[in-house]
Amino acid sequence: MQRERNKKYNLDALTDGILSGKNQWLSKGITLVESLLTEDRKESSNLMERLLPSSGKSLRIGITGVPGVGKSTFIEAFGSHLTKLGKKLAVLSIDPSSSISKGSILGDKTRMAQLSMDSNAFIRPSPAGSSLGGVATSTRESIILCEAAGYDVIIVETVGVGQSETIVKNMVDFFLLLMLPGSGDELQGIKRGIMEMADGIFINKSDGNMERAKRARKDFQNALHLFPPAASGWTVPVELGSSLEKDGIGEILEICEKFNTQTSESGWFEENRKNQEIKWFHQLIGQRLEADFYSYSITKEKIKKAEEMISSAQTSVRKALDDLFFA
Ligand code: GDP
Repeated sequence: MQRERNKKYNLDALTDGILSGKNQWLSKGITLVESLLTEDRKESSNLMERLLPSSGKSLRIGITGVPGVGKSTFIEAFGSHLTKLGKKLAVLSIDPSSSISKGSILGDKTRMAQLSMDSNAFIRPSPAGSSLGGVATSTRESIILCEAAGYDVIIVETVGVGQSETIVKNMVDFFLLLMLPGSGDELQGIKRGIMEMADGIFINKSDGNMERAKRARKDFQNALHLFPPAASGWTVPVELGSSLEKDGIGEILEICEKFNTQTSESGWFEENRKNQEIKWFHQLIGQRLEADFYSYSITKEKIKKAEEMISSAQTSVRKALDDLFFA
C-alpha cells in the first residue's frame, strides 16, 4: 500500500509542494520520513537532502509535563497567541506510551481543537507502534520538513514520565516544563533530571489559590538553585499563569524570544544545534549497526545457541559475547 502511495507523486512534486508551504504535501512528506520501508528510506534521504538548505530558521520549543498538567490547553493558548501575531506554528508530539503499549497518553486529534482549525497551525501526532528511537528520528526529520514549509515555531510535545524528555531536549532549542501549583517539595512526580533539563518552568493552573502558586514558585526557584549553572549561560525563569484564562502566555513567548536573542548573541544557540546533530548522527550509527548485526541469519542462529548455553549455565554472558564476535 505504501509503495502505491509513493508512486502517486514524484520527489520533485513533493519537494516543491513542501517548499511552497502546502500542508497536504507536508503531511505526505512526514508520512514518508516515518515509513520504515527500505525503499521509502532512500526516498526520504533524498527529500531531506533537498530540503536541508531551507531548514533551520525556526525556534524549536520542547514542552513537557505530567498528563493532566495542561499541555494541550497551553499549546492551544500559546499557539493561538502566536498565529494572531502572524506566525506559523507546527506541533509535533512524541508519545512514549504509543510506542510501548500502543495506547496513547497524549490522545488523538480531538486535543487542541481550536488550533487544528487554524490555517497557520499544523498539528501532527507521533506514529504509534514503532520504537521510541524510530519515532524520535522521524520527529527530527519532521522538524526539518516543517521548517522548509515555512513554519516559524515548532513545538515538540511529550509526556513528563521520563523516557522521551532527553530525546526531545536533544532536538529543541528551548525546553519548557509545565508544573502545577502544588507543593514543590515532592516535585509532583517529575524527576529531578527533567527539571534540570528545563530552560523555563510554567506553573499552569495558577488561577485559584494564588498564595499556593507563589509558594510553589519559591519552591521551584529554590530547587533550581541547587543545579549547576546551565552551559547556555541562561537563568531558568519560573512563571505563574493559566492556560485556561490565557494568563502568562505572552510572557512565555517573551521568555522564548529573550532566550533566542541572548543565546544567539553568545553563539551558544548555533553551537547547541551543531552538537545536537552530531549526537544524533552517532545515535543513528548505533541504531544502524545494531539493525545490520541482527539482520544476518547466521548471527540469529549463533545468538539462539548462546542464549541456550547461558540459560543452562554452560557459559558465562561474557564468554558468549566474546564467542559471538571473535570466534
Ligand atoms: P494534558 O494532559 O497535559 O494535555 O492536559 P490538558 O490540557 O488536557 O488539561 C487537563 C485538564 O486541566 C483539562 O480539564 C483542562 O481544562 C484543565 N486545565 C488546563 N489548563 C488549565 C488552567 O490553566 N487552569 C485550570 N483551572 N484548568 C486547566
